[in-house]
Amino acid sequence: MCYKTDENCLFCKIVKGDIPSTKVYETEKVYAFRDIEPQAPQHIIIIPKEHIASANDLNGENAEVISEVFVAAAHIAKIEGFADNGYRIVNNCGNDGGQTVGHIHFHLLAGRNLQWPPG
Ligand code: 5GP
Ligand code: ZN
Repeated sequence: MCYKTDENCLFCKIVKGDIPSTKVYETEKVYAFRDIEPQAPQHIIIIPKEHIASANDLNGENAEVISEVFVAAAHIAKIEGFADNGYRIVNNCGNDGGQTVGHIHFHLLAGRNLQWPPG
């Protein structure tokens, strides 16, 4: 392991396996698992394994993994069978954005007609 982790972070604990999760997909740098409180028939959380607190903390050194998150999303959409119907990828940042876990993550939502704009 050669990425930064935070021992107090919920999603770092999930990556380590200290907190169980239902894995959907994994690469060397990215982990995807089912949301514990799904907001759609398919609700998958995709995270970089490295601890990055939020979108505010992205920079030229650490942001490359975000493209891997989106490649993972496209792959998951295919293997889970919702690529053709479509899906939504959401990142919540900070209080007003509705972020509740301080490890950057992307919600992959699918399986129903999602409304716009969000609340
Ligand atoms: P946020 O509100 O920060 O954008 O999203 C955090 C998400 O993590 C929420 O959708 C919430 O349901 C999910 N979540 C929180 N704790 C856990 C957990 O222990 N396991 C899983 N699988 N999901 C979690
Ligand atoms: Zn973390």
